[in-house]
Amino acid sequence: MQATTPLGELLASPRYLPRLTENDTKPVERALAGATLFDDGVQLDGAVVEAAYAVREPEVLDHLREQRIPVLIDPQSLRLTTPGYLTNRRLVALPYLPASPMTPASTATDREHFVADALRFQQKAGASWYLTPSVPLRDEEGWSELHHDLTARTAVANGREVDSRELVALVAPGTAALRDPHALASRLLDLPVAAVYTQPLSLDPVHDSVDKLARAWRFCHEFEEANLPVIAGRVGAFGLVLQALGVAAFDSGIGVAERYSWADQVRPPRDKKDEKASGGAGKRIYVEQLLTTLPVKIVEGLLRLEGVRGRLVCNLGCCRQAGHVGLADRRGEHYLFSRTHEVEQLRAQPTRSMRLHEVHQQLLAARDLASVARRGLRDLGDLGALPPSFGHLETWLSLLARAEQVTAASGLPQ
Ligand SMILES: [Zn+2]
Repeated sequence: MQATTPLGELLASPRYLPRLTENDTKPVERALAGATLFDDGVQLDGAVVEAAYAVREPEVLDHLREQRIPVLIDPQSLRLTTPGYLTNRRLVALPYLPASPMTPASTATDREHFVADALRFQQKAGASWYLTPSVPLRDEEGWSELHHDLTARTAVANGREVDSRELVALVAPGTAALRDPHALASRLLDLPVAAVYTQPLSLDPVHDSVDKLARAWRFCHEFEEANLPVIAGRVGAFGLVLQALGVAAFDSGIGVAERYSWADQVRPPRDKKDEKASGGAGKRIYVEQLLTTLPVKIVEGLLRLEGVRGRLVCNLGCCRQAGHVGLADRRGEHYLFSRTHEVEQLRAQPTRSMRLHEVHQQLLAARDLASVARRGLRDLGDLGALPPSFGHLETWLSLLARAEQVTAASGLPQ
């Protein structure tokens, strides 16, 4: 059985949990093992494993277990609310699939079976804690009640249908729910829930406005205020900004553009052809110094720039031996090492105001480097990928300034 780490203990300080899918087997194996016999592997705090990957019983799960890395299995229940999953070749392998989508019209029996089966699957896959198999909090009538009902049923089934584990409540707000987190938090407080996993149905931290990101943060903040630590879903480097503002943990996929759109996820496959056709163009590398995940072609351009290359050195286990050579082939390992490293640095700051100061400084340094990088990229001409605007760095700085009196907290002159 998986040794379980109490959630309250783990989430008492900043954590990063990689979100693992079937595309991540090699980078995760290599990062856990270390680049050479003399290099330690990456020290993960935990991982979120998507059910469609876990159901294939990948060896990665055994290795996480051997290294006593706690695992949360995402039942991917948000996708089981429209008929699309019935023809999705990855999802149809899940043993708890409802015969028809989970909606407010689903019967009590269907709900009960769904919840129990989803928990059994998580237990079998070695989950350290259970994630409630809940539905999107859509604006339309009935979804909020269905969400509460499934959450409550999960709490009842925990310890009855499966061994008892701490519960993480999946809360996936649409526009209306995002504006009213207080009601959600107070209802959750009545249930035996140890933490909350938040996933706004539409969130794009690199392109969204300050207002929208502020709402996403305030949503998390409401639960943290109620002593329910939060794991913020699929936020990428924006997770550091959230952590500076008191959010416990975040997850994000390895080397993907960090954004989430429930509507895109449940779109019929025939509308997704264009994305597949782009092939390798989607490969991305995380650049810690710029707090941005960039297309490989852009990073290769940056490494050609005299004034930038020297500032993009990575001394972590992924790159220590090879430098920039072959970085594109190591991008997955580099992502895991970099993210883990930056959250470790944040964790080393003992107070909240010091964390705020740390992230503020990182953003200022990234913004400086980004303006040099942008000029250099322009001079290089066409790189076969759109040069980034890096506008999110300014947006995130504005959010920090708005959420807290940054200058006062960091002791900088006004
Ligand atoms: Zn690296």
